[in-house]
Amino acid sequence: MSSPVVTRFAPSPTGYLHIGGARTALFNWLFARAQGGKFLLRIEDTDRERSTPEATAAILKGLDWLGLDHDGEAISQFARASRHADVARQLLHQGRAYKCFATQDEIETFREAARAEGRSTLYRSPWRDADPSTHPDLPYVIRIKAPQEGETVIVDQVQGNVTIRNDQLDDMVLLRGDGTPVYMLAVVVDDHDMGVTHVIRGDDHLNNAARQMMIYHAMGWSVPVWAHIPLIHGPDGKKLSKRHGALGVEEYQAMGYPAAGMRNYLTRLGWSHGDDEFFNDAQALAWFNLEGIGKSPARLDFKKLENICGQHIAATPDAALLHELMDFLAATGQPALPAHKKAMFFAAMPHLKERAKTFFELLDKAAFITADRPIQPEAKAAEQLNDVSRGILIELTPHLQNASWTRDDLEHVLNEFAQMQGMTFGKLAGPMRAAIAGRSATPSVFDMLLVLGREESLARLSDAAA
Ligand code: GLU
Repeated sequence: MSSPVVTRFAPSPTGYLHIGGARTALFNWLFARAQGGKFLLRIEDTDRERSTPEATAAILKGLDWLGLDHDGEAISQFARASRHADVARQLLHQGRAYKCFATQDEIETFREAARAEGRSTLYRSPWRDADPSTHPDLPYVIRIKAPQEGETVIVDQVQGNVTIRNDQLDDMVLLRGDGTPVYMLAVVVDDHDMGVTHVIRGDDHLNNAARQMMIYHAMGWSVPVWAHIPLIHGPDGKKLSKRHGALGVEEYQAMGYPAAGMRNYLTRLGWSHGDDEFFNDAQALAWFNLEGIGKSPARLDFKKLENICGQHIAATPDAALLHELMDFLAATGQPALPAHKKAMFFAAMPHLKERAKTFFELLDKAAFITADRPIQPEAKAAEQLNDVSRGILIELTPHLQNASWTRDDLEHVLNEFAQMQGMTFGKLAGPMRAAIAGRSATPSVFDMLLVLGREESLARLSDAAA
């Protein structure tokens, strides 16, 4: 039986969780959950100058919003530095690594000479084969003994077999002169100790994989399954930049995209299952595999994102959608809705959620609910309210007072009233929309009346008529 799948997301906490990182996390989460395995989180905080607790918090928040829960505690890479150093020393004892006493100046002189002679500038340390009895009592770094002949083949689930000539590999430093481990060592030791079976990450790390394999081999550890995914590009096919929407996920949240829609869209960004564009989590979990990851960079497409988000909003059950909407208000610092407005929202949800692509659009369609009396009509709506139309609204009032407030009855009363006034219902609807919602484009007049109820509706009509 093969061992259970363990994946990890290993962000460096030097900034927000950007869209590419979020997708990497999502792929690892999907793969682990689909396989009934574990999804671990490791914060790669070894760069003490650039790592901040704020960035860690932002990453955790972003993952939480996207619903990507990890197993166990998040691991700090920095906290494991002594374990990383131990592995370097172990390799030294086993003769798979060596002490190098070369100074920066000596290395630079080597490189200059190599450049001048047109040789490879990869540093070749004279200490690799030095007899330890000749070692001076000076500071040293620990370097791995890289293979010098043959090839290293990275068997990658996305990129295929990637072959690197071993003469392109240098004896990389494992432990610095001050005793601190290098990042490349930390990654391998952590992945090994965490039992990571599959490393799914951006293909900007493909070159690192060859160097990391040296450490796996030297330690006699089994190499994980690699899957290096192409980076995300902007709509123009160029490398993603801020201008394209290389934003933190919290900015996508602030733009009103639902998390389920983001998950769906990000899953499709570089992975496919036939022609399926719109799917839910259960389907994604049933279908996700490494074979479906594409070899060429996916392009960010906001139209597609909106389209998918709109379908998720429409497909979300009303109560759950209302709940998410309240979270959205809180997350974006907007005032919470009082209970009676929440109830109205819930009643209106079946109509509101059709064709809203973001929570902003949903709220916009619900402006007649969120607005408070007296309603301040927008300029275009205000044009609908003049002496004549005010008079008509006043005349309408007793008819509505006596209506039984069902859809059928309201339709009957309003159509009959319009007829009595010698006008079409469309003509009557204009001032009613202005009075009730302060807008010229609104959900249907009947829907609004039913949701607001008799008392509130009449009060708004009377405010506008006054
Ligand atoms: N910390 C690295 C990054 O944020 C990821 C390293 C890895 O996945 O191996 O790009």
